[in-house]
Amino acid sequence: MTTPTFSDFVFGPYGSVFIYGMLMVIILMTSLVSFRLLMNRRKIGYLSMIVSLIILLVQYGQLIRQALSPSIDDTAVFTALLVKVLAFVLVNIGLYQLYNATRTRDFVVFAFFGGITALVSMTYWYAPNWLEGSEEQMRLLKPLGLELYLFLLLFLSFLLVNPRIGQNGKYQLMLTVYFAGHIVHMANVYLFDGKQRYLGLLEQTVPFVFHIVLFLFIFERVIEIMQAIYNSSITDGLTKLYNRKYFYNRVQQCINQQTPVSIIFSDIDNFKKLNDTKGHHMGDQVLKQVAHIMKEEAEDSGLCGRYGGEEMVVLVTDPDESAGELAERIRARVQEETIVTVSMGYSSYKKGLGADELIKKADEAMYQAKTSGKNKVVAS
Ligand code: GH3
Ligand code: MG
Ligand code: MG
Repeated sequence: MTTPTFSDFVFGPYGSVFIYGMLMVIILMTSLVSFRLLMNRRKIGYLSMIVSLIILLVQYGQLIRQALSPSIDDTAVFTALLVKVLAFVLVNIGLYQLYNATRTRDFVVFAFFGGITALVSMTYWYAPNWLEGSEEQMRLLKPLGLELYLFLLLFLSFLLVNPRIGQNGKYQLMLTVYFAGHIVHMANVYLFDGKQRYLGLLEQTVPFVFHIVLFLFIFERVIEIMQAIYNSSITDGLTKLYNRKYFYNRVQQCINQQTPVSIIFSDIDNFKKLNDTKGHHMGDQVLKQVAHIMKEEAEDSGLCGRYGGEEMVVLVTDPDESAGELAERIRARVQEETIVTVSMGYSSYKKGLGADELIKKADEAMYQAKTSGKNKVVAS
């Protein structure tokens, strides 16, 4: 046995084993991240991503085996190709499911592609019966159906998956890289009879880019989902204002730091009547409108919360903003732009005042506005 040269490392089986081994490490990392997602959400949808990654591991494991002991065994070549196509289909289904709840309709589509893939894979065994040619031509003909089918799948992914998921830039980059890799593979096999070793090397390294982008895609998705979970835990679903608990904590925080804050407490006038006469749906729409106005007005000077049913609050943190003027701007805009009016009260922090007392004082001022004619702002 001779000492392997540098060229052997780059182009020989060792090089392939190294590259495929590295790819398997990246895929394993991707699997770990996906597994985290699966555990966190307990959604069956994430399972297909894990399954596709396992199939990818099998695919590269097989490529390593083939690099070490090249075989022209028909079945081995066929399985390798089928696994490659299946992995591609499943990765795409997995990516689709990362962004979409799986519905029954989807299973029909998945089954359809499974069926088509099975049909196309038949051409591997039957195409030689349909056409005449030398043994060499047959060897090239057999995988052609599945290889061309991959181009169709790439095209369909652009058409069907891309518009239905997020991170489109990354996804398109992945498809483009895969497309380039497949072109190189086809050129090497069908134009150069697999003899271009630089093309062979390129064919092996292109999947690197694909898998790194895939890893980044899934990683980013985990962050997106965690962010969404946190956001929904601190906001109110209907108005998208902060919920009472989060709002209260923020008030408490400011008071602990003795920041000179103010609280505006508002309550929609005769809201029950609106619900009774125009329906709850209309009531909800009005709540959203009022919340939107509050958010716009308080954007630069504080934060808004939904304190109860139709009670909304503002924590004014900007010392240059007058709570009374801000409240009056909101009141005027609600009267102008919606079919309801609001009564408001506000209170400002003084040393020794607790969060509960500060909010209570604003609430009491609002109550005074209610009992003295509504649609007005009262200071505590
Ligand atoms: P006032 O001017 O004295 O404040 O009269 P009001 O009718 O607004 O006061 P009340 O507190 O009696 O009514 C509040 C109503 O708000 C009761 C409830 O049905 C309604 N409400 C609370 N939360 C929601 C909600 O999320 N959506 C809708 N549509 N209505 C809600
Ligand atoms: Mg009310
Ligand atoms: Mg009320």
